[in-house]
Formats: sequence, structure tokens, C-alpha cells
Amino acid sequence: MQDLIKLKISDQTNNEIHLTSEDNATQHLLKLKISDVENSMHPTPNYSEKQYPALNSSTQSIEIPTLSLQTSHVTQNTNHLPGLLNPFGRNLCFANSSIQALRPIFCALDNPDFAEHCLYASFLQLVQDMIQSTQLQSVNPLLSAMTTSQFQDGQQHDAAEFIYKLLEQLHEDTVMYSQRPDIIDSTFRIMLSDNEKGVVCSHRSREDRPLWCLPLPLNTTVKQQDVNSLLQNLLKKVPTIPKSCVPCQIQHSMLEYCVFEVLPRVLIIQLGRFLSNGDKINMLIGIPDTLKIQARTTNNTYQLKAIVKHYGTSRQGHYTTVTKDIQTQVWTEWNDGYVTRISAKEAITHEAYILIYTKE
Ligand SMILES: [Zn+2]
Repeated sequence: MQDLIKLKISDQTNNEIHLTSEDNATQHLLKLKISDVENSMHPTPNYSEKQYPALNSSTQSIEIPTLSLQTSHVTQNTNHLPGLLNPFGRNLCFANSSIQALRPIFCALDNPDFAEHCLYASFLQLVQDMIQSTQLQSVNPLLSAMTTSQFQDGQQHDAAEFIYKLLEQLHEDTVMYSQRPDIIDSTFRIMLSDNEKGVVCSHRSREDRPLWCLPLPLNTTVKQQDVNSLLQNLLKKVPTIPKSCVPCQIQHSMLEYCVFEVLPRVLIIQLGRFLSNGDKINMLIGIPDTLKIQARTTNNTYQLKAIVKHYGTSRQGHYTTVTKDIQTQVWTEWNDGYVTRISAKEAITHEAYILIYTKE
């Protein structure tokens, strides 16, 4: 995938936008054709700085879909669900895409009432405003209500880390301020255990690992992978090299494996695209509509509900979200302020990063 660079709008007319890149201090004047602006309700939408494919010095013009652009007004919002603001230089797409993926989940939840001002109250207010208002909403009040200030620095952040911190604090709010302290826990908490079993003796050990998002490592050497094969990989029993076993006092190998002790109503999966060396794995991962996952004592069936996508590299990029109405099978794409219907084929792409499944 090409690197992304920032382009600044220097002029705009009805059907052309002149963009100046800031790549290595060289300036390129670019003409951008917006092919379907004429069909939109607002012939001169306001576009702000966004990330676009890398350009070389000979590039005179690029044509990019309007979907990649931010509008200050929703131009094709047929379902009256406005998007979220991402003003110039604020890099809020990590939070916007996360909220847009979680919004349908929280709309279906029986949320507690909060008398106190807390993050959960701010979050519910934002969700309500997103539904009731025809204006774009801002995630800034929500970010301000978080106990961590790390997401307010105007920099790009990892959407999975944001979701993790958000759920953690929503959970803390329910414990502190509501009569139903387990609502976030019972909805989202995964309990995975790391197990060890002796191959020649009855030695067993188990350590529980509570998670808000299930990280699934990708295997770069296997061409065709899907979420089912990644789950099988996670749960398979792997023999260790022989080591000293305390209960039986002899050297032998152990079987190491994971077990789902508890699976939640809403399962959030993070595909391990970002490696510790800074590389990003861009391979296409199969994402089934339905997942059947066995926990220690239950069989669970999940339906795909949303995908947060990451475009670009680990250094810079852009997040969007696609959500599926399970009843109508209609997919919607949320790109900051731009909300549009898409096909199922467009929903599953190389950029899929965070998957949200709901239990049947
Ligand atoms: Zn042993």
C-alpha cells in the first residue's frame, strides 16, 4: 500500500479543488475532480485536510472518490444518521470510527441512568445527539470526559487502544455510579484462559486473562486466512520442548493452549495487523458473517455487526467504519462526516482491522 501524505486545500470552486501537498517541503498544485459533487445536495461542500495516496513530483492531478473527503454537512444522509466532525488537523478518525462502530451496540443496550456527570453519561448523550440531530456531532466532549488525556493531543491513535480504554472507563462508571455494575462486563468482557497440561502426568495449570478486545495474531506465511482459522490457531494445543515438571519431578513436554472461559454478548476482535517492528500486514482476511465459537461450557454463534478499517501505514493513516443492519442486511459506511450505503462486497476489504460480532 502507498504511503499517505497530507494535502492542504488552497482553493476550491464548484467542481474542482486545488490541493497543495506538503511532501518534503515541495509544493504540488493539484486539481481534484469530484465526479459526483454535482449530484449531491450541496454543490460546494467544504472539504478539510485529509490523507490521500502518495504523489510524486510529476503528479499533476489525482482523482479520488468523494468518500475519502470530509464534508462539513452530510450530503447523502438518507437514513438521517449524521456523521462525526473531524476538523482540520485534529486526527479524530480513530475515535469517530470507534464510536460509529459501537453506537448501534449501545442503542440496543438497556443502559443505566446516570445522575452524575461521567464518561458513560457523555457517551450516551453523544449517541442520542447522533440519532436526533441532523448536524455533525463532535467527539471532543467525550474525549474530555476520559480520565486519560492521551487521546486529546491532536495525533492519530490506535482505534483498538481507544476502544479498550473507553470500555474500561465505561465499566468503572457503572461500578461507581449505577445500580447495574455488570452491564459493560456482561456485554463485552471476554475471559480467555492460558492453560498448560502435562503430556505424561496429570499436571494442569490455568491462568485467566480478562479482555475487552480479542487480539488475533496474523500469520504472514499463510496465504488464505479467515477469522475461523485464526481462532482455531489461538485455541490449538501446542507441545512445548521438554521442561522440568514440578508435580511429577521429571522432564517432559507440556501442551499449551487457550480456552474461552466466558464469551460475551458482543465480541470485539482486533486483527494483529500492526507488528512491533512498525510494519503493517495488509493481507485480506476472510470475515465470515457467522462465527461459531466454543467456550468451555457453551457453544456460541455470533453475527458480524461492524468493521473498523484502517487505511495507510502504522505511521499514518485513516480510520473508517462499516456497520451492518443484521435484519435488513444493509451496510452503511461511516467516514467521519460522510455517511453512505455500500454493498456487502465493499464492506469486507484488506483494511479490516477491528471486528464487532453480536451473539445470536
Ligand atoms: Zn509432569
